[in-house]
Amino acid sequence: MKIGVDLDGVIFDSEKLYRVCSELYEVVDLKKNTIRDNKSRLFEERYDWNEIEMQNFIDKYHEYVVRNANFMPGVKEVLEKLKKDGNELILVTARGQQESKYIKITEEIFKENNFEIFDKYYWGITAKAKICKEENIDIMIDDYNRNCEELAKAKIKTIYLKDAPSYEIKDNEYIKTLYNWGEIYRFIKEGEQKCKE
Ligand SMILES: [Mg+2]
Repeated sequence: MKIGVDLDGVIFDSEKLYRVCSELYEVVDLKKNTIRDNKSRLFEERYDWNEIEMQNFIDKYHEYVVRNANFMPGVKEVLEKLKKDGNELILVTARGQQESKYIKITEEIFKENNFEIFDKYYWGITAKAKICKEENIDIMIDDYNRNCEELAKAKIKTIYLKDAPSYEIKDNEYIKTLYNWGEIYRFIKEGEQKCKE
């Protein structure tokens, strides 16, 4: 099976670190409270910041998050198992869309952690459904509700790896909401089993 895997919020716990940093930025640097919607994954939607405030946040914290986010619990163990089970793993991420230096940093982190596990790497991808179709991906794992809905609309089987504050979305024939990598492993194995029956 071909499994597509997103990076931020799926392999790295970067979305949560982003949320922490954006709070620190508001309290410490901006000294105000402009929270509009703390469920949104996008800081542009969570806060009422002007263009300069947004840019300053990116300048101060983006590279810090890329370099310091932990791996998601269990991600290495489960992807290694899935690979051993004979699945093909394909990274499909928006990271690197603005600046290619973040691809390099991520490659270094993968190398340092013996995690060069993917068969193929797609960087800087925001239109994920198109890539998944072209690659014939059987199942895509993403943590962004909008990506998941877009993938499902394109009839791509999608696992929505949901974090506590993320929006709820309705599961259907193409979307399954799960909460950790252990659940992802169970879901994929049970799916394989059903295909054999
Ligand atoms: Mg993501």
